Amino acid sequence: MKLWNHYHIAHTVGEALRWLAEYDGRARIVAGGTDLLLDIQQGNHPPVEALIDITQIPELVSVEADGDLMILGAGVTHTAIVEHSAIRARATCLAESCGVVGGPQVRNVATIGGNVAHALPAADGTLSLVALDAEAEIASLDGRTWHHIRDLFLGPGQSLIDPSKQLLTRFRFNLAGRHEATAFKRIMRPQGVALPILGCAVWVRLDDSGERFAAARLALGPVGPTPARAAEVEAALVGQAANTETITNAAKMAQDQLHPRTSKYRATAEYRVEMIGTLLRRALTLALSRARTGEVVPEGIGA
Ligand SMILES: Cc1cc2nc3c(=O)[nH]c(=O)nc-3n(C[C@H](O)[C@H](O)[C@H](O)COP(=O)(O)OP(=O)(O)OC[C@H]3O[C@@H](n4cnc5c(N)ncnc54)[C@H](O)[C@@H]3O)c2cc1C
Repeated sequence: MKLWNHYHIAHTVGEALRWLAEYDGRARIVAGGTDLLLDIQQGNHPPVEALIDITQIPELVSVEADGDLMILGAGVTHTAIVEHSAIRARATCLAESCGVVGGPQVRNVATIGGNVAHALPAADGTLSLVALDAEAEIASLDGRTWHHIRDLFLGPGQSLIDPSKQLLTRFRFNLAGRHEATAFKRIMRPQGVALPILGCAVWVRLDDSGERFAAARLALGPVGPTPARAAEVEAALVGQAANTETITNAAKMAQDQLHPRTSKYRATAEYRVEMIGTLLRRALTLALSRARTGEVVPEGIGA
C-alpha cells in the first residue's frame, strides 16, 4: 500500500501554501520527515494524499543574526543549529538541546520547525525556544503573523498551526547579551528511539553587579501537556543573590510546583520530580557561570 500518492517540492512559501490549498486538507508539509513518516508508517496519522516538501525553500533554511536579534528559518536542521557560532555562543541552550536529539542521521535532516510543529511537551529544541522567549511566524494565504511560541501549543501533539493551510516559517529571539546566558540539560532513557525523561532549558540575566538574578526563564518538559515554564520560580529568583543557596531553593520550589506523571516508558513521577531538582540545579549553575564570566563552551552535544 502506498503511504502517499504525490510528492511536491516547493521552492517558495507561496508555492507550498498553494499546494496545501489545492489538496484541501489532504496534503501535509514534510521537512526532515523524522516524525511525520514514522507517524504515517505506524498508522498514527490520517491518510495523506500528498506530501509538500519545504526543505528547498531558501528563507526557511536561513539563519540570520540582525544585531542582537536571531532570525532562524523553520527548516533549519538540528545539525546546522549546533554548528552555528552565534547560536553556540549566545543561544547556547538551543545548540545544546538540538545537539542531543537522536543521532547524527536524525539531526542532519530533522528541522527545528518540525520539532515545534509536532507540539510534544518533551521536544528538546522546542524547550529551548520557550526559554529563549522566541516568537514564531505562521504563514497562510492570507498573510503572515508572529505568535509567542507558547501560544502554539494546545495539547500533546496539538498545535495552533492548521496543518492543512499554514506553514511555520521563522523564529525570532534575542541573543544573550552582557550578564545573560542560557543552558540546557536533559536526562533520557535510550530505548531504540530516544525518549527523554526530562529536559530543562534556562535563560538568566544578572544585574549590573553580576551578583543578583535580574530575570530568569525556566522551561521544562514533559511535566504537563505542553512545554512548561516554571513561572513562580522565575519570579522568586528575581532580586535574589546569584549563588548556590538561591539555586538550591529554586530547584526545591520547582519540585513542589511541577507535577510530572508516572510514565511506563519514561520513569515514575517520584523519580522525575527528583530530576526536576537535579537538572534545574545543573542548568542554573551552568547558566550563572556563563553569565558571570562570558565564557561559553556548549556541553553534551552528541557525536
Ligand atoms: C530516532 C529518532 C530519535 C529522535 N530523538 C529525538 C529527541 O531526542 N528529542 C526530540 O525532541 N525529538 C526527537 N526525535 C523527533 C524528531 O526528530 C524531531 O521532533 C524533529 O525535530 C522533527 O523535525 P522534522 O523536520 O523531521 O519534522 P517532520 O517529521 O518533517 O514533520 C513533523 C510534523 O511537523 C509538520 N511540519 C514540519 N515542518 C513544518 C513547518 N515548517 N510548518 C508547519 N508544519 C511543519 C509536519 O507536517 C509534521 O506534522 C527523534 C526522532 C527519531 C526518528
